Amino acid sequence: MSERIFIGVAWPYADGPLHLGHIAGAYLPPDIFARYHRTKGNEVLMVSGSDQHGTPITIKAEQEGKKPSEIAAQYHQQFLDSWQKLGISFDLFTSTGTANHAEVTQDIFLTLFDRGYIYKATVSQPFCPRCQRFLPDRYIEGTCPYCHATGARGDQCDACGKPLNPVELIDPHCRLCDTAPQFKDSEHFFLKLSDFQGKLLDWVKDKKHWRPNVLNFTMRYLEGGLRDRAITRDIEWGVPVPIDGFENKRIYVWFEAVIGYLSAAKEWAKSSGDEEKWCSFWQGDVNDVKSYYFIGKDNILFHTIVWPAMLMGYNDDLNLPYDVPANEFLTIEGRKLSTSHNWAVWLPDYLSRYDPDPLRYLLSINMPETGDTDFSWSEFVRRNNNELVATYGNLVHRVLTFVYRNFDGCVPEYRTIDDSGVVLDNKAKAIEALVDSLLSQCHFKQAIMQAMLLAQETNRYLDEKSPWKVIKEDRQAAANSLFTAICTISRLKNILYPFLPFSSQKVHEYLGFEGHIEEYTRKNPLQPLPPPGQRLREPRPLFSKLDEGLVEEETSRMGLPGS
Ligand SMILES: [Zn+2]
Ligand SMILES: [Zn+2]
Repeated sequence: MSERIFIGVAWPYADGPLHLGHIAGAYLPPDIFARYHRTKGNEVLMVSGSDQHGTPITIKAEQEGKKPSEIAAQYHQQFLDSWQKLGISFDLFTSTGTANHAEVTQDIFLTLFDRGYIYKATVSQPFCPRCQRFLPDRYIEGTCPYCHATGARGDQCDACGKPLNPVELIDPHCRLCDTAPQFKDSEHFFLKLSDFQGKLLDWVKDKKHWRPNVLNFTMRYLEGGLRDRAITRDIEWGVPVPIDGFENKRIYVWFEAVIGYLSAAKEWAKSSGDEEKWCSFWQGDVNDVKSYYFIGKDNILFHTIVWPAMLMGYNDDLNLPYDVPANEFLTIEGRKLSTSHNWAVWLPDYLSRYDPDPLRYLLSINMPETGDTDFSWSEFVRRNNNELVATYGNLVHRVLTFVYRNFDGCVPEYRTIDDSGVVLDNKAKAIEALVDSLLSQCHFKQAIMQAMLLAQETNRYLDEKSPWKVIKEDRQAAANSLFTAICTISRLKNILYPFLPFSSQKVHEYLGFEGHIEEYTRKNPLQPLPPPGQRLREPRPLFSKLDEGLVEEETSRMGLPGS
């Protein structure tokens, strides 16, 4: 029986281009996971969308003299383009700007309100006397009361990750005009998180399979006691509050964005022609259906506490997250990534100059799973040249070219496989099984390292067998070892497919297989190997060597104003 895997991916703010930190943190891992499960024959629904609301976008719109919707539409288009070029295979990438999303959000809001999990209260809100407006979230900045970092915002401190209320900020000022705010009364809705403390603690207790950073953060947070959170704001951009008298307020972007996981599943079902199809990914026993949420570590709170609490209060039948494999951060050239200082590698920029697979490779083998990792251009060149080109690409190219030229363009007929061939074959099967188990637990980095070990082993085997020399005296002996190597290459392209989909597709075709590799593997799970006699296609090199000179060129672009 195939499993159903729901994959929710963090919703990127449509207020700027994606950078490599986003990709390593939240977008590449779910794509690897989705491809892995699809290949196994499981049903996957992977959704996300651009987060069109929230104060980052309205601030940017005000600064550029545009409408928030124009900014959001521009970046939404750019995201779609990036997913396509990088091969991030969403089943649906929508946005929070749809009528469907507003409808689902308002339904959850009203249901929680009717059940007493949302209540009204009057709160003191920062108000800028000069701009004559309330200052929610990013409109106000100050010093963090916990870690004393400057530039902490009204909703959160990025330096220590603590959520904040504007009143807590030391030295607060208006982001637009720098004036110190006054505080004025305003009526808002609150999510009664405190009601869920016990239920959440019970739920988290058996989550031993969560990453330690995610589990520890969540436990610490829950044990510290949950405070109710305001879920509306004094702004005009966002999902309207569905209650009379609140026409000038909007639902808080965070309350609303996490609902996107459910609304996107419903939108996907509608467009598939079966409106109820989303249920199969949201309801049922954990052995049949699991939901995973891929995010960066700064979003853990909203996915292990706020969203589960909302779901518990809304509808008992909906599945809570099975796992939330949050990644740590990616630093760039040894420094903390900073979009405001242009200390970042922008994805559209990367994709305009380089192929997708070398980036997917580096960010996989260097994934910030259990601690921060660093991206540097010199490592990019080194890993591309020494590992992708020299170890894997060269293995594929030298074997397939030699066979293509010396065996009439067909997979050679083998007679016997000797001891070292059997050893290699067993090793390949063992690594295949190990990678399967690692991927099922979201251990991506270890999985790709195992795959590269297999490529190294195969190179060693070929060096020992030297079919290129042996063929002159013993054509059959060369055919035997080349057949063994081809089988390992065929397994390798399957193992590496979730990580390197573009090059695995090429190897699939060079080996003479038809159609798409994912489709083929799904339909022929027990026949990963090309049969003797199968006609090959003329191979081309899988990867290109990169020039060392690009390191200086690329690093000199960074840190300069503009991107
Ligand atoms: Zn702080
Ligand atoms: Zn102001």
